[in-house]
Amino acid sequence: MTVIDVDLLLKGDRRTLAKAITLIESKLENHRKQSQDLLEELLPETGNSLRIGITGVPGVGKSTFIEALGLYLVAQGHKVAVLAVDPSSPLEGGSILGDKTRMELLSQEANAFIRPSPAGDSLGGVAQKTRETMLLCEAAGYNTILIETVGVGQSEYEVAGMVDFFMVLMLPNSGDELQGIKKGILELADALVINKADGDSISLARQTCRHYASAMKLIRRHSFWKPRVLSCSAQLKQGIDCIWEMISEYHKESLKNNTFYEKRTLQNKEWMQHLITEMLERKLNESEAVKELRPELEQKVINGETTAYLAANRLISLL
Ligand code: GDP
Repeated sequence: MTVIDVDLLLKGDRRTLAKAITLIESKLENHRKQSQDLLEELLPETGNSLRIGITGVPGVGKSTFIEALGLYLVAQGHKVAVLAVDPSSPLEGGSILGDKTRMELLSQEANAFIRPSPAGDSLGGVAQKTRETMLLCEAAGYNTILIETVGVGQSEYEVAGMVDFFMVLMLPNSGDELQGIKKGILELADALVINKADGDSISLARQTCRHYASAMKLIRRHSFWKPRVLSCSAQLKQGIDCIWEMISEYHKESLKNNTFYEKRTLQNKEWMQHLITEMLERKLNESEAVKELRPELEQKVINGETTAYLAANRLISLL
C-alpha cells in the first residue's frame, strides 16, 4: 500500500507529487482504486491553473519553446508543470518526446516540474494518466500546466480536449502539406506560432504568418476568440512575451465571459462519455459469453443468415 501524504502534496512537496504520479501510472488494480480515492479527495484543490496545449511536428522546436516559455513564466513567479502525451512510446518501442535530454535549464528550476509521457497500452490510457497527473500538479500548487504532444494518431485531439488554450507550432514555410499538419488540427488551434523566425528565416516567417492568418480567417468557430497567428524564435527567446500576453488576454476574456469554465465542464462531460464507451468496450471484449458467441454470429453475418444489427444486439444483451 502506497501512502500519499496529502498535506505534503498540497504544500507542493515534489517527492510526494512524484510518488502520487507513480501511483496513478501504476497498472495494479489496487493502485488504481487508491489513486482514484486520492484524486477524489484532492478534487476541491484542483482546477486553479491555466492549461496550455502545445503541438507540432518533431523538430519544430517544441522543447526549446516550452523551455523558453517555462523560464519566462518562472521568472515572473509562476509555478510551471510540463507534461506530455506521447503515444509513440508504448506502441513503437521508442518515444519521440522522451529520448533526448530536454529542457535542461527549466528542469533545474525549483518552480518547474517536468514529467515525461506516461507509458500506456492505448492512447486513451496515456491521455487519462496525463489528465490525472495534471490534477495532481494543480493540487500541488502549479498554476500553469504546459502539455506537449506530437502529431501521432489522435494525440492532438486528446490534448486539445484537456486544455484551456491550444497552440500549434509551425516552421517558416508556407503551404500546409509541407508541414504535415492535419487540417482538423488547425480548426482546434487557438493560436498558430511560427517558430524559428530568426536568421535567414525572418522574412519567410513573416510570409508564413500572412499565409496562415488569411487561411485561419476561413475557419468558422463558435467562440468569442479568433485564432491568432504569431511568430517567435524559441532559441533566441524572442517573441515569447507577446505569446504570453496573447494567452493571458484569452484567459482574462474567457473568465469574464464565462466560457472558461463552460469549456472545462464540457471537456469533463465529454471525457466521461469517452470513458463510458471505453469501459463498455473493454467489458464486452472480456466477457466469456461474448467471446464464445461472437465467432458464430460473425459467421452468420458473413453468410447473410442474420443482420449485423441483430448480431450486435444479441452480443450487447449478453452483458
Ligand atoms: P521538438 O522536436 O519539436 O521538441 O524540437 P526541438 O526543441 O528539439 O528543436 C529541434 C531543433 O531546432 C534543435 O536543433 C533546436 O536547437 C532548433 N530550434 C528550436 N527552436 C529554434 C529557433 O527558434 N530557431 C532556430 N534557428 N532553431 C531552433
